[in-house]
Amino acid sequence: MKLELRIAGVVLAVGTTLSAAQSIAEPPDAIYTHGNMHTLDPDRPRAEAMAVRHGIIVAVGSNEEIKRLRGVDTQVISLHGRTVLPGLIDAHGHMAGLGSYGLGLLDLSAVTDFDQLVQVVADKVATVKPGEWILGGRWDHESWPNKRLPSHERLSAVSPNNPVWLRRVDGHAGLANAAAMHAAGVNRDTPVPPGGDILRGPTGEPTGIFVDNATSLISRHAVGGSSRPEALILKAQEMCLAVGLTGVHDAGISPSEAEVYRRLEAEGKLKIHVYAMIAAEYAVDYYADHSPYVGKRFTLRACKIVADGAMGSRGAWMLEPYADRSVDDAGKPYVGLAVTDPRRIEEISRASLDAGFQVCTHAIGDRANHEVLNIYERVLPPATRAEKRFRIEHAQLVNPSDIPRFAELGVIPSMQPTHATTDMRWAEARVGKRRLAGAYAWARFLQTGSRIAGGSDFPVESHNPFYGLYAAITRMDQSGKPPGGWLPDQRMTRTEALRAFTIDAAYAAFEEDRKGSLTPGKLADFIVIDRDIMTCDLADIPQTRVYRTVIAGETVFE
Ligand SMILES: [Zn+2]
Repeated sequence: MKLELRIAGVVLAVGTTLSAAQSIAEPPDAIYTHGNMHTLDPDRPRAEAMAVRHGIIVAVGSNEEIKRLRGVDTQVISLHGRTVLPGLIDAHGHMAGLGSYGLGLLDLSAVTDFDQLVQVVADKVATVKPGEWILGGRWDHESWPNKRLPSHERLSAVSPNNPVWLRRVDGHAGLANAAAMHAAGVNRDTPVPPGGDILRGPTGEPTGIFVDNATSLISRHAVGGSSRPEALILKAQEMCLAVGLTGVHDAGISPSEAEVYRRLEAEGKLKIHVYAMIAAEYAVDYYADHSPYVGKRFTLRACKIVADGAMGSRGAWMLEPYADRSVDDAGKPYVGLAVTDPRRIEEISRASLDAGFQVCTHAIGDRANHEVLNIYERVLPPATRAEKRFRIEHAQLVNPSDIPRFAELGVIPSMQPTHATTDMRWAEARVGKRRLAGAYAWARFLQTGSRIAGGSDFPVESHNPFYGLYAAITRMDQSGKPPGGWLPDQRMTRTEALRAFTIDAAYAAFEEDRKGSLTPGKLADFIVIDRDIMTCDLADIPQTRVYRTVIAGETVFE
């Protein structure tokens, strides 16, 4: 049997392996043997063993091939037949946001109706000082029996002296109580900011629900509740490493968070790879005195713009009115919200291009996607379009005629499979059946030549990438509904899903030469898990447990 062994990109026939191995100056620091490895390297998709030196994969092959590379000081780790995958990458998450739930922000995701939400807040009121803000989020009225957006009155009754600000699960709307609105100086006369909405009751009084650009009316007054950014990021890192993430694209940070990341990196405390996007509000000023930064663990060479809101809170910007809210309060056709003026998106995109930063724009509705593609088409020089790898974050509802434009323009769809399996409960109510042809249309994107960067948008969804892989492959929720999957022709294969969370996410960060597959010459980023997700029962994928997470050769979770 003639096998090939790959050493640092050079393919050698097995007969020459020994001498070639000896010609490598130093033996590996560690070899991992007896693994069931899915490498995602097209030259050698499956392997048993891997050798690592100075944090880099130096060889991948059979047990015999790799054992021959062993030196006197080489550590040998048997994986006892366990499955190994390239480290998983979440191409869209919010580290500080995740960390704040890890560190005590009220997590309302398990709340099943408004009564329960009120009770959770009442319990919290008993533990805090009068006047202290109570902050929380992740509630979802779509999972409550009446599916109606709540109004503040009962919340205000249980918390008369503590301002309360609770974000909806999508982060694009929030519920404030009377004390919070009072503290923020908001009342019935407060003008509605462009790209936002203040919902009102029959008497014209605000209900406490603020959407998109109106959320900052409250949130900028909300103080306390969150820990220092260092603590939030380190907490999020711990949570991510434990579920097998070796990389995260942090979708929208401030310059001060960038400083925190730089410091954590310099101190050796940042273990996970973070590919960050500077938030659009800071971007242009930031470029004045910052160049793209590519470090060992932290990279900042992208910016994040927000074009519209989210579908759950009807802020996504649509080509046609919502099916379940066709007119606004003034009786005009209601198509959602343009959160950032398209002219401003174009300005920031040009400035980013000039400064050498990638542009990543949140676009959920079909109008927002259409506008952003038009802007990218105008801004990107045709000859170098593909190299710029501009991204659209979410691309949830895209007019089918716009889907091929992604690949044509070299624009990467950065998509979150669990959004589909959460939103499938109400997506048809929002947009009707016809428009679903372009909803979370993974297969259409892949068929037209796009590479999908997979993510979760944590803490909007769970940060567990196995939930995302399962959702991508099945389009079912974790109880197996609907059987066969929602719009099942848009499912990904297991390999496509794994690519989205590894090599294609790496591609979206210009890192496919360093990350995303188990290939000699790349960083030794990999995970050891308790089941083979490429062959196991689909229903078992979400329960996958991680035994070990390795980043650049260092075991960072066990
Ligand atoms: Zn996001």
